[in-house]
Amino acid sequence: MNYDYLIVGAGLYGAVFAHEARKKGKSCLVIDKREHLGGNIYCEEIKGIQVHKYGAHILHTSNKKVWDYMNQFCEFNQYINSPVAMYKDELYNLPFNMNTFSKLWGIRTPAEAKKIIQSQIASLNIIEPKNLEEQALSLVGTDVYEKLIKGYTEKQWGRSCRDLPAFIIKRLPLRFTYDNNYFNDRYQGIPIGGYTKVIEKMLEGVDVQLNTDYLENRQELNKLSKNIIYTGMIDAYFDYKLGVLEYRSVRFETEELDTDNFQGNAVINYTEKEVPFTRIIEHKHFEFGNQPVTVISKEYPSEWSKGEEPYYPINNDKNNALYEEYRKLAQMESRIIFGGRLGEYKYYDMDKVIEAALLKAEEILV
Ligand code: FAD
Repeated sequence: MNYDYLIVGAGLYGAVFAHEARKKGKSCLVIDKREHLGGNIYCEEIKGIQVHKYGAHILHTSNKKVWDYMNQFCEFNQYINSPVAMYKDELYNLPFNMNTFSKLWGIRTPAEAKKIIQSQIASLNIIEPKNLEEQALSLVGTDVYEKLIKGYTEKQWGRSCRDLPAFIIKRLPLRFTYDNNYFNDRYQGIPIGGYTKVIEKMLEGVDVQLNTDYLENRQELNKLSKNIIYTGMIDAYFDYKLGVLEYRSVRFETEELDTDNFQGNAVINYTEKEVPFTRIIEHKHFEFGNQPVTVISKEYPSEWSKGEEPYYPINNDKNNALYEEYRKLAQMESRIIFGGRLGEYKYYDMDKVIEAALLKAEEILV
């Protein structure tokens, strides 16, 4: 046994845990099947622009401990996420706020906006929403739903809002101030220099082996440590013996463009069904870049099948019940801890992943 811990996955969960373990004097080997560090927060530099290869990532949190923790590894810039929605050549500010309502209805005051929304909701007379469409209509009324929610959601899930369960949308926050800041959190920003550098810093002094799939080499790798932190897919660990947990996937089409500013904003959502992608990300705007060229990524949601990159867990009753069975199996594995978004089959924002990894480190590292 060469190491105190073998950590499977060089994503945020694995890197935070490894950093904490090293601080406590434990030796760690971090392995990843990919050719780079960082998991899904990995950024690749193209023409001086940090390109978020697995989807745009903005750190936002109200947890001061997490914010301070991350600030040890980098300085954050002042980026505030203020996405814009494009519906049939009409542009609307997001999240739904007074700028959105003013553009939709030509009104000025919160009282006018509330009156329109309430009258649209009342005219629908939905008592108990039977599906996502009815749920959304009963929360925001017809116009916001038709122009800004319906098409986007149907593209994201690959089916009609009438065939999606109501529980997917619990709340749809409406903001009656002229405030385009998407997140309500106290802290947000993008690491200056990119996320990959943050992970490199976390892993300073830790042994790392890339291009190494744990599941393909588990016999030899298990000999290296008696304690394993596993942040890969929980069902894959058990050879899918109880069934396959489902995900939604995304295909990214990234292009370099010979212009200094393509869309004037980091994130533009395309909310009509006819446009096949959901968003265009223009990466340089996350870091106020002034390069003469730009890089954009179009995001195409897609069905996921085994062997492809899993992005969003589909936490419906069927998958949650299956995960619960896997979790019970996992509890019987005395030397392995399952963590992170794939190990716990959970949509986890970065701050929650950091919190979870710190908590686990506190619990088990002595
Ligand atoms: P991962 O980053 O997936 O790391 C797991 C690592 O394990 C991977 O590198 C993988 O290659 C490796 N691995 C898996 N199996 C094996 C194996 N068998 N052998 C070896 N290695 C293996 N959060 C935010 O807070 N803000 C955002 O704006 C945001 N945007 C997002 C956008 C998208 C499209 C998605 C999908 C997520 C977004 N998130 C965002 C969430 C964020 O990506 C996660 O919180 C975070 O990346 C999870 O870290 P992790 O370590 O759990 O998982």
